[in-house]
Amino acid sequence: MTQKRLAEFFDAELEMLANKNLVRTLPCLSDQTATTITLNGRPCLLLCSNNYLGIADHPRLRKAAAAAAIKYGCSASASRLVSGNMGLYNELESALAEFVGKEDAVVFPSGYAANTGVIQSIAQAGDVILSDELNHASIVDGCRLSKADRRVFRHNDSNDLDRNLKKCSLYRMRLIVVEGLYSLDGDIAPLAEIVELAERYDCTLMVDEAHAIGVLGENGTGACELCKVANHVDIVMGTFGKALGSYGAFVAGSEQLKRFLVNKTRPLIYTTALPPAVLAASRAAIEIVREEPWRRRETLTKAAYLRQGLSEIGFDVGVSAAQIVPVIVGAAEQALQLAQALLDLGVFVQPIRPPTVPPGTSRLRVTVNAEHSYEQLNTALDAFGNARERLRNNVQAGVEQP
Ligand code: PMP
Repeated sequence: MTQKRLAEFFDAELEMLANKNLVRTLPCLSDQTATTITLNGRPCLLLCSNNYLGIADHPRLRKAAAAAAIKYGCSASASRLVSGNMGLYNELESALAEFVGKEDAVVFPSGYAANTGVIQSIAQAGDVILSDELNHASIVDGCRLSKADRRVFRHNDSNDLDRNLKKCSLYRMRLIVVEGLYSLDGDIAPLAEIVELAERYDCTLMVDEAHAIGVLGENGTGACELCKVANHVDIVMGTFGKALGSYGAFVAGSEQLKRFLVNKTRPLIYTTALPPAVLAASRAAIEIVREEPWRRRETLTKAAYLRQGLSEIGFDVGVSAAQIVPVIVGAAEQALQLAQALLDLGVFVQPIRPPTVPPGTSRLRVTVNAEHSYEQLNTALDAFGNARERLRNNVQAGVEQP
């Protein structure tokens, strides 16, 4: 393709997105704390970060990362199977296995890499994957990369999963994949029912705890702990880039699972190991989850406060049950307008539109963390009320929306 034709292709694709209000742009951010951010030079209240425990800038994480960088440098400089597997990996993986109560754990470069790699390598031709319809893109992509058949069941609907499983008896392996806490709706999977089905139909069960780790359960190990099924889940995936304030991900399960993944999982084998500073920060984060349980309690209590407040002033917060509070508005254009009106009032929340969510369910994904003050949450509630008022007045006055 000539450069001109390539440019025309890009323009045409982007114009199609623009016509549907689906263009995305990268915001220019700086000076981030757990609850504030500077956007294009302007300080705002931050309501869309996944730093759920507010520890991304915790002194212990900073110190651990800095000490590791000073001691070992800034890069692992090779993949784990070549010369990148520093002792920090072993320390972190042992701590993780103990934390989630599994035999062993494997650290991955990211949650995206973990989900795509694990699903692709475990589910093979002759197997079937049963995947919740609202599973994250990384799970969807793992299913696409796998040679197994795929069945998508209705969100959090055990009856539909049961119906699907009845048709899957001839497969060699049935792999059920769900999220513990759903990333865009904030609702929790019915894990007790899913475990019961998994056992009845002799399935392997994988739970993505990306948004639940550090937040849900008595010890903060996730939705499996909250639902009292942790011992019945074969494969647990968790991320460090959200509540744990660091970067990367892990998969925990049996000792054989670890040996299998190290030998078979392409996003682990063919990529550079994580930098020492990241591994050390992740290790410190697990300690904080253990030692500061008040953080997860604060997160959930404050989220419940904001959720109730938003619901009382008439916003649709869906079925949220945790720190992720969707404000569902429907059309992509409305989500964009509400986000812009909030930004004008100094509150930063991102609109989430298709294909990330199904058409007609565009939303603002509000997240609350342990460090938000009630004053900030009240400011947010006022801003939501005022933003909606402003949009209504604009419609009545016939002002064209951006
Ligand atoms: N699983 C879920 C449910 C997620 O929401 C995300 C990230 N948003 C991931 C996996 C991917 O994790 P990471 O950001 O570490 O790649």
